[in-house]
Amino acid sequence: MKIIKAEEVTFEYIRRDEDGNVEGINRAVDKVSLDVKEGDFICVLGSNGSGKSTFAKHLNSILLPTEGTVWIDGMDSKDEDKLLQIRQTAGMVFQNPDNQIIGQVVDEDVAFGPENMGVPTEQIKERVEESLKTVGMYDFRKKSPNHLSGGQKQRVSIAGVLAMHPKCIVLDEPTAMLDPLGRKEVIRALRALNEVEGITIILITHYMEETVYADRIFVMNKGKIVMDGSPREIFKRVEELEEYKLEVPKITLLAHELRKRGLRIPDCVLTVKELTDALKKC
Ligand code: ADP
Ligand code: MG
Repeated sequence: MKIIKAEEVTFEYIRRDEDGNVEGINRAVDKVSLDVKEGDFICVLGSNGSGKSTFAKHLNSILLPTEGTVWIDGMDSKDEDKLLQIRQTAGMVFQNPDNQIIGQVVDEDVAFGPENMGVPTEQIKERVEESLKTVGMYDFRKKSPNHLSGGQKQRVSIAGVLAMHPKCIVLDEPTAMLDPLGRKEVIRALRALNEVEGITIILITHYMEETVYADRIFVMNKGKIVMDGSPREIFKRVEELEEYKLEVPKITLLAHELRKRGLRIPDCVLTVKELTDALKKC
């Protein structure tokens, strides 16, 4: 079973004047078809304005397609009767942790989602503890979120989604406002959720470095999926990525340049170790 399936999804933002007349139409997502296997770690890459956020908002019915269909664990995103179940199946985490945290104390904040879902009180406590442990924030459970770093706050937001026991978590540039350490913490937490808990992760980012561990990458440009493959398949295509204004990991770029100058280096290097190993053999 595919946890996410999109078929020919198009979304248009319609701009109207004061009288309600249509002034312009902006096709932000243009006939996107894709599917995601349960348990995969997926990355969606694309420069600003390529349609990533608009598409992501279709994955838990915040937006409904103008044309086409999205299924979340088999449920049509347009099915109003399934809205709660859809929101519970695919949790969303956004860019700014300050807009997502509402509780005065970390554990209260994490309890908010399951409380709203009507989970019995005894179970909520258990879920909150387990979620905070999973993202490595259990020791901070009695702290005020105001005193946390950006990376810690974002991990609390992730715990809040986890406490709803989703099958899939969609994260829209969760690291964009974080420092390098915070970014690492968040990515590490996501990898653990995926590997240990088997939760499907859909990570939207424009940091290439964050995508090297993905099972699959989709690249968006002007509302369309223009590339689709494993990190190795994608990162090989350096010139194409540059055309879509995406920054290739520096180590991959260096290896690519060395290769172009005649060094015998494999055509897709993702880590420093791979490059040093390749250089030793030259
Ligand atoms: P990304 O997340 O890749 O930066 P978005 O999905 O935010 O891309 O935007 C895709 C396109 O839709 C852009 O041209 C953007 O200007 C437009 N857009 C996004 N949000 C709105 C909105 N609320 N109203 C009108 N146009 C929008
Ligand atoms: Mg965006």
